[in-house]
Amino acid sequence: MSEPLNLKDYATASLRERFAKAGIKPFRADQVAQWLYVRGVEDPLEMTDLDKALREKLSLEWKTSALSLSDLQRSVDGTLKGALMAEDGAMIEAVIIPEGDRRTLCISSQVGCALACSFCATGEMGFTRNLSTAEIVDQFLHMQREMPEGEEISNIVFMGMGEPLLNLPNVIEAVRIFLDQKTFAIASKRITVSTSGVLSKIPVLLEAVPVNLALSLHATTDKVRDVLVPLNKKFPLAAVMLELKNNPMITKRRPVFFEYTLLEGVNDSPEDARRLVGLLRKLPAKLNVIPMNPHPGSTYRKPAEDVIGRFMKVLAKGNFPITLRKSRGSDIDAACGQLAARNRVDALINLQ
Ligand code: SF4
Repeated sequence: MSEPLNLKDYATASLRERFAKAGIKPFRADQVAQWLYVRGVEDPLEMTDLDKALREKLSLEWKTSALSLSDLQRSVDGTLKGALMAEDGAMIEAVIIPEGDRRTLCISSQVGCALACSFCATGEMGFTRNLSTAEIVDQFLHMQREMPEGEEISNIVFMGMGEPLLNLPNVIEAVRIFLDQKTFAIASKRITVSTSGVLSKIPVLLEAVPVNLALSLHATTDKVRDVLVPLNKKFPLAAVMLELKNNPMITKRRPVFFEYTLLEGVNDSPEDARRLVGLLRKLPAKLNVIPMNPHPGSTYRKPAEDVIGRFMKVLAKGNFPITLRKSRGSDIDAACGQLAARNRVDALINLQ
């Protein structure tokens, strides 16, 4: 018998098609989605508005779970970090950051990452595999269950472990599930996908789903970016910026978020700040500056406060909104750069 398919690997429209091929009435997909995502029922045998034969068929031929929660840590500032285990034993992490009335879930898209950004703890692990759609969706479901009574995840950022644009089909299907008005109903402006600059996939993502795009910029010259984000050698800065300028999906209503990790003596000079202003000038841009949180073994350090202040002063000449991030969850290793499984929490607070 073949390996059971996972019901959470399919957005409702795809599940209807799958069901039709399997001789199941397509509208049953809508009922199943309600059980899974609204009522929180995972066992098909308990989906009582399906007939008995279908319940048994689904129970036999399909599965629903993808991850189990192994560990949960709460920071004094309310940040919540979950360690989740996949069926093959792979470990990933998801983080929820409370900020005002927002509860932002930082979600992983891969186990490890192949892109080896030199300031990133995940990059040091290397790449193991892509996450399935069900594994992406399960991060939301597990973390939502751990939230205090009456609180709900309001925003999602694909900024955890991995490069989302290198797992695009599964990321797009998961976004479709989160956008489904009849289940999760997360507004599209509250979902952000972050990329290190996989140029060829940016239009594919933006044409498929109406999400916000964030670019991990971190440098203003190819020389420095080649070291910090080695993908830059394949997709150089000028080419990526040109794509962002020309992409019709990027507008004032849907700007690009830029993340810039500030590293002592590497990218923190007034000249860097001036170049940054020049790079973003003609774009609907929002900039997040994130002073480095060193993780064990990292050679990079956070710049001194006066250096950060000087950098921000130059940036203020730009005509785009800028946010200087504070560190969150540092007592549970959930701050930027401190996790193997999530490295840019600071960048996501206040996104949109
Ligand atoms: S910063 Fe992102 S793309 Fe770069 S190595 Fe880390 S997880 Fe991968």
